[in-house]
Amino acid sequence: MSKKMIQDIEVQGKRVLMRVDFNVPMNDEGVITDDKRITAALPSIEYLIKNGAKVILMSHFGRPDGKVVDTLRLDPIAKHLSTLIGKTVIKVNDCIGDEPAQAISSMQAGDVVLLENVRFYAEEEANDPEFAKKLASLGDIYVNDAFGAAHRGHASTAGAAQYLPAVSGFLMEKELQFLGGAISNPKRPFVAILGGAKVKDKIKVIESLLEKVDTLIIGGGMAYTFLQGQGYEIGNSLLDAERVEFCKEVLVKAKAKGVSLLLPEDVVAATHFAPDAEHKIVDIDAIPSEWQGLDIGPKTLKIFVKAVEDAQTVIWNGPMGVSEFPAFAAGTNGLAEALAASSAITIIGGGDSAAAVEQAGLAEKMTHVSTGGGASLEFLEGKKLPGVEALNDK
Ligand code: ADP
Ligand code: MG
Repeated sequence: MSKKMIQDIEVQGKRVLMRVDFNVPMNDEGVITDDKRITAALPSIEYLIKNGAKVILMSHFGRPDGKVVDTLRLDPIAKHLSTLIGKTVIKVNDCIGDEPAQAISSMQAGDVVLLENVRFYAEEEANDPEFAKKLASLGDIYVNDAFGAAHRGHASTAGAAQYLPAVSGFLMEKELQFLGGAISNPKRPFVAILGGAKVKDKIKVIESLLEKVDTLIIGGGMAYTFLQGQGYEIGNSLLDAERVEFCKEVLVKAKAKGVSLLLPEDVVAATHFAPDAEHKIVDIDAIPSEWQGLDIGPKTLKIFVKAVEDAQTVIWNGPMGVSEFPAFAAGTNGLAEALAASSAITIIGGGDSAAAVEQAGLAEKMTHVSTGGGASLEFLEGKKLPGVEALNDK
């Protein structure tokens, strides 16, 4: 069932308490090094301003563990947001109690207040009902636009929604539309590409996608546990020894379901895990015993690209190799280019995959790059996200 959105509700003159995900990377000088998460919330913020709401924003930032940590205050974020919207954002030094209440009582329609880091209170992550009530008392309407935090059942992401009319923001809606749409009603052929480091992290994603896709591509560090299960010598490549049986079962299940499961046929093997390690392209049955596979090889890339070219929907989670090292980024970049050129619906979910696509300058060419790493993964696992569940149904 779809969730109510901000356009479905009258916001004029109302105090709108909106959870955003402003957990941006910041350097030691307090400079925001990437403001993507802030800009992603702008459509909702600007809509609320334009429609005469009193906009009250709340977010977490870093891991203060329930204490006030001065370096994790949101002042630099308020300043940056002020620049982005061309309007002063009123920053208060608490997220509950008298100070925010007073600032809010003197707000005019279209004003923006940013509350202090909600994780300065241990009650936030504990989803303490009294704390959630205090947050909710600051608003007339609750909006959740923090998709990146929607997999957390915290006071500001879920608890406060209990006490107010609760709707999704535009970013949240977009994430649900693309990720949700791809999974529940994909245009076929539907291809999922999984990579990254550990099988362990992706077990539920594999199981869930196996039920839905036509083709499952497995690359990255994950692939070697599958390959070992098929009897290949993988040298020192990443191995999740406890999951070899699971991988074997996946292959059997895929076959039974008629899902085409693609694994690397050649790899870039290196002497050790380092950006400047000696390396060479080898077939999958020729990895030297002390070496490790750090990227898919060119033959494999071609096979994977071909599968993408035939697709109508592609979901990608996890790099094909150690893409942080340029010597081992060709597989990831090559696949990113194929997705960028494809006319399929292309969806990137996962922090490192999104970063890789961004790095390659191809983010704009994808249908949707999810802003939520952990949240998008849990979504792909088929889990219900507490931050979404807490919202009112349409
Ligand atoms: P995402 O954040 O997109 O979900 P993951 O966090 O699962 O992706 O995986 C990203 C990590 O996987 C990267 O740090 C990358 O170095 C690592 N990785 C990918 N391929 C390999 C490999 N062959 N060997 C070791 N690590 C790998
Ligand atoms: Mg990651």
